[in-house]
Order: sequence, then C-alpha cells, then structure tokens
Amino acid sequence: MAKRDYYETLGVARGASAEEIKKAYRAKAKELHPDRNAANPDAESRFKEVNEAYEVLKDEQKKAAYDRFGHAAFDGGMGGARGGAGGFRPNGDFASAFSDVFDDLFGDIMGQRGAQGRARAAARGNDLRYNLRISLEEAHQGLTKTIQVPTAVACGTCKGTGAEGGSEPLTCPTCSGMGKVRAQQGFFTVERTCPTCNGLGQTIKNPCKTCHGAGRVEKEKTLSVNIPAGVETGTRIRLAGEGEAGMRGGPTGDLYIFIEVKDHPIFVRDGADLHCRVPVSMATAALGGDIEVPTIDGGRARVKIPEGSQTGRQMRLRSKGMPVLRTKDVGDMFIELSVETPVNLTARQKELLREFDKLSEQNNPQSAGFFSAVKGFWDSMKG
Ligand SMILES: [Zn+2]
Ligand SMILES: [Zn+2]
Repeated sequence: MAKRDYYETLGVARGASAEEIKKAYRAKAKELHPDRNAANPDAESRFKEVNEAYEVLKDEQKKAAYDRFGHAAFDGGMGGARGGAGGFRPNGDFASAFSDVFDDLFGDIMGQRGAQGRARAAARGNDLRYNLRISLEEAHQGLTKTIQVPTAVACGTCKGTGAEGGSEPLTCPTCSGMGKVRAQQGFFTVERTCPTCNGLGQTIKNPCKTCHGAGRVEKEKTLSVNIPAGVETGTRIRLAGEGEAGMRGGPTGDLYIFIEVKDHPIFVRDGADLHCRVPVSMATAALGGDIEVPTIDGGRARVKIPEGSQTGRQMRLRSKGMPVLRTKDVGDMFIELSVETPVNLTARQKELLREFDKLSEQNNPQSAGFFSAVKGFWDSMKG
C-alpha cells in the first residue's frame, strides 16, 4: 500500500507554515487519540500516521528532505537524509519529542486536573453484574432464586475506615493526592491509577490488619432474588446497595441481575406471545379432528382442527402466552399446523393411496389453481 503524503495526512497544504502544521497536528491528534476512540479500530493506526507525519514536518531539515525526495528520503535506500542528525526512525519511539504537545493534549482530554482536583478518599463501590439463566417456564411463573455473589463488604474490624484504632489517613506520597500517575507508554503518555494508594489519594499509616487498609474485605454474599413473571432475555433487575462496599466507608455499589431466558424445545417466544408448530397427520388435516397441545403452564389444551386444514394454518389460544412484566396482561399462544407427509409406507398403504389419488382429481384446490396459472403462463409465452 502506498504511504500517504504527510501533508495530506495532517490535512495541510504544501508550504504551510510551522504554526499551521502544529495546529493541524494538534487537532488531528486530539480527534484520533486512542483514549477517545476505543470503539474505532482504525483510529490507532491513523493516530500513528499523524504522529509520523508531524515528526517529519515539524523539523526543518527533515521537512526539507521530505519536500525534495518524498518518503524515499527516509527509507534507507536513498542514503542522504537518513545519515543526518539522530538517525531518524519514523515508527520508532519518539515520545520525548512530543512531551510539550502531549502535556497540552492531556490537560484537555483528561479534563480532570484542576476540574476534579483531588481524588475522593471514600470511593463508591463497584456495581456488580450477575448473569442469571432461567427457563421459559420460570420466566412465565416468576421465581425466587438464591444466588451467591462474590463481592466486597465493609470490614467489620475497622468499620470500613481502613485505619487501625482511628488513626488519620495521610496524603499519598507517590501521587501527591491526585490518585493518578503518568507514564510513557510507547509514544504517548498515559495516566493510570496510582499503585500506592489505588487512586484514593491517601494512604494510611496504621492500616487495619484485617483489610490491609482497604476498609473492605472479599466475601461471598448469599442473596435471595425475586424474579418477576414476564422477564425476558436482556431484562435487568437492579438491587440497590447490593454491589461492592465502597473503599473506606464510601457508598456501596448496586448489583444488576442480567436475565437470559433459555430457548425452549417446544415454544418460541415473540414478546408476550408464544408460537408452537404442531405436526398433524395428512388424514387429520383432511378429515378434521381434535388434537392435544401443551401449554407453558404445564397443562394441556384441546384444539379442534377444521376439515381441510393446510400446512401453515394458525390457531390462537387466548391468554395462553407469557405475562407482560409488571402488568396483568397476558399474551396469546399461536399454533401453526404442519401437515406431515407419511413415510415408510407398506405395499397395502401405497395401494390405498394410489386408489385414493385416482379418485381425488377435484380435491386439491391449490394444485388446480397452480396448474391453471402455469398453463396460462405457457400460453402467453407462445403468443
Ligand atoms: Zn479493616
Ligand atoms: Zn497515590
């Protein structure tokens, strides 16, 4: 793939001033910064291209070489420009060269210094997610489920403060209370949670021996959860205050139960309605008759098949569907007939069917309609 022109990459004209180049670069770098483009896989490689272009165009000598020879100035074969100061590598690690620009960018992107100020000492506990798979019958009935959630609860020894015997916390020496430290990674600067204080901005001189200063301990919590009738895959049930305990007495997070309703071997759910495909014999479909079908509550319903039913015929059983969550509404159940062609016939059965077929010229309305349409089609093609 041909390398893109550096001016084009930055979106400036050839002959742009150093100031214009710098301005264009800042705008592009901000737009494509990986921290802002987690969902865009192209952004990172474009971000690198932009950096590479800027590395060349901001440097008088490299820019002059690029203007004269293009990319060839840097790909080694040319000699010339490459032998210059510093042995320039376009994809190398040149983080230090950018620190002035990145100071700026990060001030903007993070928007945290100044605005947010110091890290909060009492951080809110994490929300927890618990995935619960239930059957369609359970979703129909509603249920109470006992679940075990690994979580963090407030430490009983220090009552969640993290400090032994009520000693006061100190400002963290590593991050000076910011809760974050900055590090060079590849060729850009990243901010991450301070490893000394875990982002709290404070350390404890005499940490509680039970929780090592966190104010909370890992524990498996047993909860009894009410799952209301009518839940669907994707329904979230929020249990306020059942998430992780906060750090050092911070507020507790919430627990979210994410419901997944398993596929059912007989019923297919469509919102509140249930669909069920029922095979019927050729003879029953032709003669009519009663069949018995299952219902989601575990019962059975008798359904009358009208004489001469075709495959695909639908019948509705009112209020035999699913309840609608937090209402009194109930969906319907739909039965769809599937007329089955018999297989593995004996000689006697075949003989009877052949005899039957000879007598049934007037009994197949679909066939009659189809073949008369086909005849009309062929006639029109001849004309
Ligand atoms: Zn403790
Ligand atoms: Zn710290």
